[in-house]
Amino acid sequence: MKTVDFRPCECGIKRGFLDERAADKALGRARAKRDRQAQRWDGAHPIHRENRIYECDFGMWHLTKQSRRSYEEHAALLAA
Ligand SMILES: [Zn+2]
Repeated sequence: MKTVDFRPCECGIKRGFLDERAADKALGRARAKRDRQAQRWDGAHPIHRENRIYECDFGMWHLTKQSRRSYEEHAALLAA
């Protein structure tokens, strides 16, 4: 069984992935876990499923939890 390879990043985030593929894989695993929890919680917090991956200034990839609302606010700021 292969575990996902992540290491501390220089930006201070503990889970840094070396490439987009590794981060995407980890995100998929996190989503699957959350979906099982969401079923147990009867879908009480569906908005928190808006997880994303991004590349930081140090060239590593991270997962981020971001609600749809904050994402849309950020997108609106970028568009302004
Ligand atoms: Zn980083």
